[in-house]
Amino acid sequence: MSVDVHADIERIFEEVARRNPGEAEFHQAVREVLSSLGAVLDKHPEYRRMKMIERICEPERQIIFRVPWQDDHGRVHINRGFRVEFNSALGPYKGGLRFHPSVNLGIVKFLGFEQIFKNALTGMPIGGGKGGADFDPKGRSDAEIMRFCQSFMTELYRHLGEYTDVPAGDIGVGGREIGYMFGQYKRITNRYESGVLTGKGLSWGGARVRPEATGYGLVFFVAEMLAARGESLRGRTVVVSGSGNVAVYAVEKAQQQGARVLACSDSSGYVVDEDGIDVALLRQVKEVERARLSAYAERAPRARHVSTGAGGASVWDVPCEVALPCATQNELDRDAAEQLVRNGCLLVAEGANMPTTVAAVQVLREAGVAFGPGKAANAGGVATSALEMQQNASRDSWTFEHSEQRLAEIMRDIHARCFEAAEEYGGPGDYVLGANCAGFVRVADAMHDLGLI
Ligand code: GLU
Repeated sequence: MSVDVHADIERIFEEVARRNPGEAEFHQAVREVLSSLGAVLDKHPEYRRMKMIERICEPERQIIFRVPWQDDHGRVHINRGFRVEFNSALGPYKGGLRFHPSVNLGIVKFLGFEQIFKNALTGMPIGGGKGGADFDPKGRSDAEIMRFCQSFMTELYRHLGEYTDVPAGDIGVGGREIGYMFGQYKRITNRYESGVLTGKGLSWGGARVRPEATGYGLVFFVAEMLAARGESLRGRTVVVSGSGNVAVYAVEKAQQQGARVLACSDSSGYVVDEDGIDVALLRQVKEVERARLSAYAERAPRARHVSTGAGGASVWDVPCEVALPCATQNELDRDAAEQLVRNGCLLVAEGANMPTTVAAVQVLREAGVAFGPGKAANAGGVATSALEMQQNASRDSWTFEHSEQRLAEIMRDIHARCFEAAEEYGGPGDYVLGANCAGFVRVADAMHDLGLI
């Protein structure tokens, strides 16, 4: 990249950091995208003239609101709700809602920023947004969850619409929460507007394969990465972090493709199962009982549970050839990456959003480990949300086989877009470069065509 492009990018980043103080994760996500864009700006000087990067880094709209609710004992709680409507050049804002105590504006902005490029990479007509609340669903009764969701939607509904902004789930928000929110939206608006939320239940407008889509899509993407190196998943050892929606279906699809999935984790620790993770048992423990992973180890004959409290143990200590971080941001740090490299890991692909720290990516890159960034590798979830919107708009419902087939094609296309953009912008095999450039160019071109927006 030319010297003045480099200086321009540095200046833009400094300005983003200055204008968004204290938002470390947002800075990290912006830094990662910007560091890929040198060759794009060299090729497209008009993007610089039109301040395309500066515009994309500024959300179109940011909504922050009070969410009051009452627990089962009548105690009053106040949470903070967010929706960052980041970019609608390609379609209505699209992205999940996260309910977790760590949620703040910086986290929602990092997720929303990533979502712009992820959604662009899918090739589908969806803009980028993200939202959530600093609400902790852990230990809350069903009735409390319902009251919270209803209060949250009582404010959020006015900002939504199938042509405006279409949320879905993320950490802490699954089918149950989407149901309560959809029900409240329907009551307030008196409209059965199926396309306003995705991740719905099958009998009320949901789409087949949406629950499985992020995990399945991740494995399809990994298979493409391996195929590009003349390899496959068959017989490979795999470790997955997390045990939520993404992790569960990544385990299932990896096993269907002949891999041995040895371990997965939750916030309390991890399990290693020499027989391979039993998906039915995992779902029973995590989805039905909403219990800790230790309950899995108690029931699986050759599994052991390791607590990850003070001792510094990590699921990444378990030797594997393929590592799939599917828990949360910055969960795979430099030490973990070094451990993976020592253990002979050959591929890391992100099922979660930004789970690998900057330093860890650097370690993996230097060691020649193939790395699939989340905005490409985990895009199957949001892509299948777009398929759900498509089915809602046409009042249709596709079969499982057809939906899975579409997902597989979309992941193949995303891989091809990243692969080709990496070659075009001077880093063959660099999926971070490829994903950032391909995603950015699609959004920037649309913004260019729409005038100064
Ligand atoms: N939260 C998911 C993501 O990170 C899915 C978003 C959606 O389906 O809208 O992409």
